[in-house]
Amino acid sequence: MVVNERVEMEKIVSLCKRRGFVFPSAEIYGGFANAWDYGPLGVEMRRRIRDAWWRAMVTERDDVAGLEGAIVTNPRVWEASGHLKHFTDPLVDCRTCNFRFRADDLPEWDDEARALRQPTTCRNCNATNSFTEARQFNMMLKTFIGPVEDAAAVAYLRPETAQGMFVNFENVLTTSRRKLPFGIAQTGKSFRNEITPGNFIFRTREFEQMEMEYFCRPEDGFRWFDYWRDERYQWYRRIGIKETSLRRYDHPREKLSHYSGGTTDIEFAFPWGWGELEGVAYRTNYDLSQHQQFSGRNLTYYDEETKEHIIPHVVEPAVGVDRIMLILLLDAYDEETDSKGETRTVLHLHPAIAPVQVAILPLSRNEKLVPKAREVWALLRRHFVTQYDDAQSIGRRYRRQDEIGTPFCVTVDFQTIEEDNAVTIRERDSMAQERVPLPELVDRLREKTDVF
Ligand code: ATP
Repeated sequence: MVVNERVEMEKIVSLCKRRGFVFPSAEIYGGFANAWDYGPLGVEMRRRIRDAWWRAMVTERDDVAGLEGAIVTNPRVWEASGHLKHFTDPLVDCRTCNFRFRADDLPEWDDEARALRQPTTCRNCNATNSFTEARQFNMMLKTFIGPVEDAAAVAYLRPETAQGMFVNFENVLTTSRRKLPFGIAQTGKSFRNEITPGNFIFRTREFEQMEMEYFCRPEDGFRWFDYWRDERYQWYRRIGIKETSLRRYDHPREKLSHYSGGTTDIEFAFPWGWGELEGVAYRTNYDLSQHQQFSGRNLTYYDEETKEHIIPHVVEPAVGVDRIMLILLLDAYDEETDSKGETRTVLHLHPAIAPVQVAILPLSRNEKLVPKAREVWALLRRHFVTQYDDAQSIGRRYRRQDEIGTPFCVTVDFQTIEEDNAVTIRERDSMAQERVPLPELVDRLREKTDVF
């Protein structure tokens, strides 16, 4: 499923802007490259994504606990984790047009030699053999703590949330009296000075991650790696992503870092081709060993069964909220043409993910209908994210809700006040309508929206 890149992405970007999902950041100042601001619907959708992840990874499990670490922390963390030395991308400039490329994105890149093979052609100006030598560029964003910008005050914005879990391993272990296997999960902003950001919210310098470190006995590492690869793939199916849009990619052994037991990417069929959505990595005991060495603290786990001190192994599923939001929009977007040749744009979003869950639509602005419709709205607002809309014809209002993926519209009409104290629920995908007595409305909608 590789569709026309420009058309598809343009449609999503334009819908996001038009309906208040995503705006170019600081647009009134001309924007800021690769930075985006999330509008009212975007914010709701991101909350839903985070909640769905948290529910699946923490709340519904008995073996995972949460954490929120600092974004700017002790720089020694990044020495121990290897980020200061190794979190780099190779960079080349074209001497003719000064365009800058990530060298490992170019087809001439030789991964083993860590250099470009000759001859090369610049993608921007077609000059041949015009690239500079590849330079390693560290992607961590620096900042300065305190009033003096000297070396002693340098700190970094975290490039991943994972290290927060490693440096707090001992704290969580002792305060929540965990036994192996168990996990620590965190969601929060991460920052990377990406050389080639782009594709809307796919790759940005500031993004939100959701990561979980699952600690286990060394001999169980591969079993948990298999388990989490499968579990994470199934989660995307559960939130409604089509099977044909997903695949798994196992990194070849020779490309893995020396400590890695394996990495599998869950990939999505983006308009420009398959790309990483989530990485599931078996990190062995690398991170805890590093922190033990650099901090001088004992980060072992005492195994009561074997009476041994061990450094647990770790399996890590890691994904970005922004990237999930993008794939949900791409996968859900549809333009349907009916028998009369009329087109409706629909986002077939899962009811538990859609930014607005229920829209309340009085049949008209008639003074008899409005108080009842507002009463229904007040009732539903306490349970769902809602929108009230009484502008223009009912047909147009349905279309507006379809376009933002609202799964259910509740219509209040004259029959509601004059006859049956019931309302109509209209379902987005099938457009089927169902009459529901008002006292049953909340329960009926809850059954339909709370469906993981
Ligand atoms: P890439 O190779 O694409 O730069 P990565 O393999 O370095 O990514 P990880 O460090 O594994 O990425 O990060 C885990 C997840 O965080 C990614 O799968 C992605 O969903 C998200 N992510 C990483 N970098 C970005 C970014 N710059 N913008 C948005 N999301 C990101």
